[in-house]
Amino acid sequence: ESFHDVDMGEIIMGNINLSRYTRPTPVQKHAIPIIKSKRDLMACAQTGSGKTAAFLLPVLSQIYTEGPGDALQPPENGRYGRRKQYPISLVLAPTRELALQIYDEARKFAYRSRVRPCVVYGGADIGQQIRELERGCHLLVATPGRLVDMMERGKIGLEYCNYLVLDEADRMLDMGFEPQIRRIVEQDTMPPKGIRQTMMFSATFPKEIQILARDFLEDYIFLAV
Ligand code: AMP
Repeated sequence: ESFHDVDMGEIIMGNINLSRYTRPTPVQKHAIPIIKSKRDLMACAQTGSGKTAAFLLPVLSQIYTEGPGDALQPPENGRYGRRKQYPISLVLAPTRELALQIYDEARKFAYRSRVRPCVVYGGADIGQQIRELERGCHLLVATPGRLVDMMERGKIGLEYCNYLVLDEADRMLDMGFEPQIRRIVEQDTMPPKGIRQTMMFSATFPKEIQILARDFLEDYIFLAV
């Protein structure tokens, strides 16, 4: 068992080597081929299981090797000084701490690639985050409330979001983020399910998460590790 079992392209493989991850964890071993096969995924996995790399590696590898995906990529995406950014991939997370961890991991795996990750979260200076976004944003890690704020300010458009990840979905619901999550995912400009690829991660799988999975995922694979 090794990361070489799935072809993720040279840049990703180089960055995995740099990160000193030698063997995939169980969730990585199972989720990476599923995501690479373009299926929607509902994965039950705990913090510490390696779930972050389980979604970042195949999403980044798809962006590298196949371009942005089914939807067209906006011509201005990722160039310096653009007022509005159109990420190809969005990762929603419940807290600033988790968002920053995912962002750090994304930066590590996007090293020496054209993919630029950004992070936005509440409780911090929004002006600074907007300036970072304006330098280009292909992969956005966000807490739901701050993302709604950014969308209302016209700083983020989700028209080209082909890869959507909900991380720690049960915690996001516990924290009361369901209205914001639905507003983000169900808005008219977001590519519909079946067009975008959607991945949900949750430690638990209660009724509310099953409903969210039914609403957001298309013909999904269920994985419990
Ligand atoms: P996560 O569950 O994604 O928060 O990851 C938990 C910790 O395990 C993080 O510090 C990761 O950097 C680390 N990690 C993830 N995957 C691997 C791997 N395949 N080999 C070694 N460490 C890993």
